[in-house]
Amino acid sequence: MPKQVSAYGARSANAPLEPMTIERRDPEPRDVEIEILYCGICHSDLHKVRNDWGSTHYPIVPGHEIVGRVTALGSEASRHRKGDLVGVGCLVDSCRACPACRAGHEMFCEQGATISFDSPEKGRNTWTYGGYSTSMVVDERYVLRIPTGLDPAKAAPLLCGGITTYSPLHQFGCKPGVSVAVIGLGGLGHLAVKLAASMGAEVTVMSTSRAKEPDANRLGARHFIATRESGALDAARAQFDLIIDTVSGPHDLDALVGTLRNFGTLALVGLPAQGAPVDATGLIFGDKRVAGSNIGGIPETQEMLDYCEEHNVVADIETIFAGQINDAYVRMDRGDVRYRFVMDLASLRDSGP
Ligand code: NAP
Ligand code: ZN
Ligand code: ZN
Repeated sequence: MPKQVSAYGARSANAPLEPMTIERRDPEPRDVEIEILYCGICHSDLHKVRNDWGSTHYPIVPGHEIVGRVTALGSEASRHRKGDLVGVGCLVDSCRACPACRAGHEMFCEQGATISFDSPEKGRNTWTYGGYSTSMVVDERYVLRIPTGLDPAKAAPLLCGGITTYSPLHQFGCKPGVSVAVIGLGGLGHLAVKLAASMGAEVTVMSTSRAKEPDANRLGARHFIATRESGALDAARAQFDLIIDTVSGPHDLDALVGTLRNFGTLALVGLPAQGAPVDATGLIFGDKRVAGSNIGGIPETQEMLDYCEEHNVVADIETIFAGQINDAYVRMDRGDVRYRFVMDLASLRDSGP
């Protein structure tokens, strides 16, 4: 019998999130049933609820930075044990056979990856519901091990924010001696700063105001640029080998290209609703690159979690109860998060259904 579980979700782009009851399937042979303890609140949840990308199917239960405990296992599931602390990020299914899946890049599955929320489920007539809920059932192949040295609530944002910044830092050569700028000091941005500093890079934060400057230094940045101060980006011309752009709203990419050194890379991870043009001239005179990076696959996510335990990297969080989610969205929308909201699901478990 499928289980009825408590969740928080939205019924339309204009409606606030509200309590709802959703169904979770019984564990199938390779499934893991997870009691969700914590779920990070990513700006992608907000984009999706508001239908910023034009693809949302309602009702939607967001949440893809999930940490919980294994409560039951399917008859053939062997990768995790009852009681283990585990994580689920964006990915819950893919074909497992195409070249992308075999290479561990499941997000680029040629049959289409199944995302943990608002995604049609393979071979079923249902849509996925995410981590703003008390439990979920996921195939063991997509369930991560949370290292014992990590605080479970502070580790939750690593499942999306962590992997989304770790992957391009790795891919585009972050190492000692490299000058890295992080644009936007929010959930992704603060993890990018911690990770880049832990890899030995010289880190600069670019933020819209000076309000977060003391925090930027504490997180590991050596330099700070307030991008809306007049002439700020001109003064930073040709300074960076790598820029990680986590900005969620409209902004000028050409000005950022100007701050790259020759052969430098502007790596885009932020996904504003509106696209932005890039002028070819600024790229050509300097052999510069604009790149993108989409989360990371399952093996790289496990590698990142293990790296974070070894280097003591977790998110700075503000814990909220489920009923505070709408206020949290308002604050996230105005850049007022220090630096990731994490929902404590005990609050929802206590209230029903
Ligand atoms: P967040 O916590 O809200 O942080 C975004 C930060 O961007 C804000 O704190 C603010 O930083 C800055 N910002 C916002 N609007 C701006 C504007 N118009 N101009 C300049 N700066 C602005 O969001 P997040 O959870 O880190 O997510 C960031 C973006 O990454 C979102 O678009 C999200 O959908 C996307 N994302 C992509 C992936 C992927 O796989 N590529 C994965 C997860 C999330 P300051 O206060 O420092 O200015
Ligand atoms: Zn996310
Ligand atoms: Zn595949």
